[in-house]
Amino acid sequence: METVEAVVVGAGVIGLAVARRLALGGVETIVLEKEGAIGTETSSRNSEVIHAGIYYPKGSLKARCCIAGKWWLYRYCAAKGVPHRRCGKLIVATSETQNATLDKIKANAEAIGMPDLERWPAERAMALEPELFCTGALWSPTTGIVDSHALMLAYLGDAEEHGAMIAFKAPLERARVREDGIELEVGGAEPMRLLARYLVNAAGLHAPELARRIEGLDPARVPCGYLCKGNYYTLSGRSPFSRLIYPVPEQAGLGVHVTIDLAGQCRFGPDVEWVERIDYDVDPKRAERFYAEVRKYWPDLPDGALEPGYAGIRPKLAPPGAPAADFLVQGPRAHGVPGLVNLLGIESPGLTASWPLAELVAAELGLPPLEGEAADI
Ligand SMILES: Cc1cc2nc3c(=O)[nH]c(=O)nc-3n(C[C@H](O)[C@H](O)[C@H](O)COP(=O)(O)OP(=O)(O)OC[C@H]3O[C@@H](n4cnc5c(N)ncnc54)[C@H](O)[C@@H]3O)c2cc1C
Repeated sequence: METVEAVVVGAGVIGLAVARRLALGGVETIVLEKEGAIGTETSSRNSEVIHAGIYYPKGSLKARCCIAGKWWLYRYCAAKGVPHRRCGKLIVATSETQNATLDKIKANAEAIGMPDLERWPAERAMALEPELFCTGALWSPTTGIVDSHALMLAYLGDAEEHGAMIAFKAPLERARVREDGIELEVGGAEPMRLLARYLVNAAGLHAPELARRIEGLDPARVPCGYLCKGNYYTLSGRSPFSRLIYPVPEQAGLGVHVTIDLAGQCRFGPDVEWVERIDYDVDPKRAERFYAEVRKYWPDLPDGALEPGYAGIRPKLAPPGAPAADFLVQGPRAHGVPGLVNLLGIESPGLTASWPLAELVAAELGLPPLEGEAADI
């Protein structure tokens, strides 16, 4: 059986960020990906927003990793030529009662270390974005957009440059904890067995189920995963807005917002649809609800302008109706298995938080901090 120092399962943005971190630290790393390409699941089915770190509870991993990740991501994208834009975002109230919620959002952002949100009167926001209707707004100058695929390619490039390898069509079927490491059974066209010192489960939506297939890990330590789909509708033609527009958030999501991409196209979403299985079809019947939601802040949205776009699925750790759960970076201190880290519930803002999450994985594995050139971007 071949031995390898580290195996990362999943070539989404998180697995690739982890592989990059391990390789930069001199750890021999293989990424196993069940599909034939990087980023075919959640990492390419999201809003591609660099979140500022506004809504998350004080002390949560989401808050800490989002804010640290945002600043690092802007530097990294600039250094590596990853397309991105700090376009800013307006969070808009569309009724007088929602104005009070804006104040609460601002207070929370300040409490978690994001002091730069500005409270704007409706007139100022509507002057900036003439198609917009609102009764009040918050301006977030540090929110931006990023080309998520280019980001993943940059992470992969760094990892490969430092010796990491990636195997496609190589699903990890199961694993077994041994005295001398973790034995992995890899399926696909060329099945193999590997013995790894470190195993990082970054399998996204599949991570809880995969963790349950690790013999020697107490299944009671693995939380249930829930699937919360978010559908997007696209608008033909150029975006009527130059900045991101978000309504006051709803439970389980941030509300049907306007996301613009780097080509100036715009899409609306994601909505909230709890599902039992992974299915990325967008039901055209959901359009009616989208028109109603979007017209709250863009009253002139023409009939027939929206087309079903794409969908992504949030890997949730809390069931419908329950308060949102935090990211779970579950290492040996939590489950007692040396060398194993499970990344669970890495929903939004996972893209923004990818670098701090990779650093947390390294810390859970007891690896030293990066030094010198490797610590620079
Ligand atoms: C609708 C939506 C909108 C979002 N918007 C934003 C946003 O604007 N900004 C932001 O910061 N975050 C956003 N997020 C969150 C962000 O997209 C995710 O946190 C991030 O993409 C998760 O990446 P991942 O690598 O954990 O998962 P994935 O991208 O799903 O990658 C997991 C990989 O593991 C592979 N895999 C699974 N099982 C196995 C196995 N057994 N063997 C081998 N490979 C396996 C899969 O094929 C997949 O490639 C959003 C998420 C959703 C759903």
